[in-house]
Amino acid sequence: MTSNNRLSGKTIVVTGSASGIGAGIAEGMAAEGANLVIADLNLDGAAAVAEKIVASGGRAIAVRVDVTEKTEVAAGIASAVEEFGRIDVYFNNAGMNSPMKYLDITPENFSLVMKVNALGTLIGTQEAANQFIKQGTPGKVVNTASIAGRQGFPSFAPYSAAKSAVISLTQSGARALAEHNITVNGFAPGVVETPLWDKLDADLEAIGEGDAGFDSMAGDIILGRAAQPSDIVPTAIFLASSDSDYITGQIIPIEGGMILV
Ligand code: NAD
Repeated sequence: MTSNNRLSGKTIVVTGSASGIGAGIAEGMAAEGANLVIADLNLDGAAAVAEKIVASGGRAIAVRVDVTEKTEVAAGIASAVEEFGRIDVYFNNAGMNSPMKYLDITPENFSLVMKVNALGTLIGTQEAANQFIKQGTPGKVVNTASIAGRQGFPSFAPYSAAKSAVISLTQSGARALAEHNITVNGFAPGVVETPLWDKLDADLEAIGEGDAGFDSMAGDIILGRAAQPSDIVPTAIFLASSDSDYITGQIIPIEGGMILV
């Protein structure tokens, strides 16, 4: 495992890290010496990522956590503390999308997408902050927003609303938690090639919006390609490391030049 040890000794929880961006940043931060807690609804997937990190010479555990359930989030943090002694950084990365045409969106669809992406971020930030305060240490919270939180997309209205909420929660959290030496930041990916898009493309096709999928959105990227999870890793390392200590309430776009805001 190549490592500059930029995160040596830090314990980092990443939600939604059984797959895609979360798995990529977890592996990248483990390679920098961090202890990783792979927290996901999918325990088998989380265990596979943790095993890969350990096989590469890193330290990681897997925990099953539903980010919408406060008690499960608290239990996940407790497992992290039991294994590694404390936590230093908490990534609210778990998220999902369930596209519907604007006029067809149901209250149930809106509530589910808001619950996982937005309420999950609030709960994760609260529980991580409670732990940082209990420890008496500084802490960092890092949220996965999206370009969809900066711009509304017609078939993703609840998702865009939820990711706008993530940006807003980042700002409110930064203001609320600064007095405890806790920073709250985030990053906004554009189009990242992950399993999320397999389901999204199939769902879009099913509602007759197949033209609004991965290929069409990736076609708008001025750097000429979609992102891989590895493109997110350097920013995740920066936001988890002391290099970002004087930054709070900010969202870093990682979108290859797409919406440019
Ligand atoms: P992914 O589907 O590959 O991974 C998401 C993970 O989150 C899965 O392992 C899933 O089991 C987990 N998860 C879902 N609901 C959960 C819950 N309630 N509790 C715990 N875990 C849960 O997706 P990804 O592309 O890696 O997305 C990761 C994050 O990045 C999400 O917040 C997503 O909205 C955001 N994002 C993705 C893209 C993209 O193009 N892929 C772009 C912008 C933002």
